[in-house]
Amino acid sequence: MMENRLNNLSIAQSVEQILDNIAKTCALCGRDASDVQLMAVTKTVEAQRVNEAIHAGVRLLGENRAQELLAKYDDYEKDGVDIHFIGHLQTNKVRQIVDKVTMIQSLDSVALAQEIERQCEKHDKKMNCLVEVNIGSELSKSGVAPDRLSDFLGELSGFGRICVRGLMAIPPVSGTDAEKERYFSGMHKLFVDIRDKKLDNINMDFLSMGMSDDYLLAIKHGSNLVRLGTRLFGHRDYGPAK
Ligand SMILES: *Cc1c(COP(=O)(O)O)cnc(C)c1O
Repeated sequence: MMENRLNNLSIAQSVEQILDNIAKTCALCGRDASDVQLMAVTKTVEAQRVNEAIHAGVRLLGENRAQELLAKYDDYEKDGVDIHFIGHLQTNKVRQIVDKVTMIQSLDSVALAQEIERQCEKHDKKMNCLVEVNIGSELSKSGVAPDRLSDFLGELSGFGRICVRGLMAIPPVSGTDAEKERYFSGMHKLFVDIRDKKLDNINMDFLSMGMSDDYLLAIKHGSNLVRLGTRLFGHRDYGPAK
């Protein structure tokens, strides 16, 4: 039952294989592998197995749910490890995570920015944020529409406690590789265009895109932060079938 990992690799072996794949892909497209960060996405994964990934060299964790982060936080061996929030974030949950994460990758509304600003004031800190872009313009998805991005960044530049550091995207899951590449290259174009505008208080350091099925394609199109769950930890177990 526990042995649901891909190819029966241990977590350490998976990390090694992923880093090797990243290095090879970077070599092919003339990029430096050290520019690409590997994030372990921890949803439904027990803390002890997350710690195995940390022991294998992972330095960045991605959390989807405030509740789950709170439940596992104390059990993580967090020395030298950063935690980013990557899931849809309700404004009433910001308070719970603001002192536990070093970045929120899912900023997509002014209301959320206002609450982050408010909570950061309480803690006298700043928060690194990525703006989530709904690159596939899917009705059901969170994220800012690509044609709204410029205006949204303009609004964010006035928030003193929010440091915009880049963009995040989750392209449509059902797409073919060719479609995914179109979304990734579309994201890269947005990223470069905004970077070149040099907006006040808006930095474009991170382009967070690419998951288990498509991280190498994302790297080919400029991603420098890939978020992997399944490929590291195996298929997620959401509990007994109903
Ligand atoms: C679950 C999740 C991932 C990882 O997905 P896998 O396909 O398991 O690698 C990455 N990013 C976000 C925002 C997620 O929710």
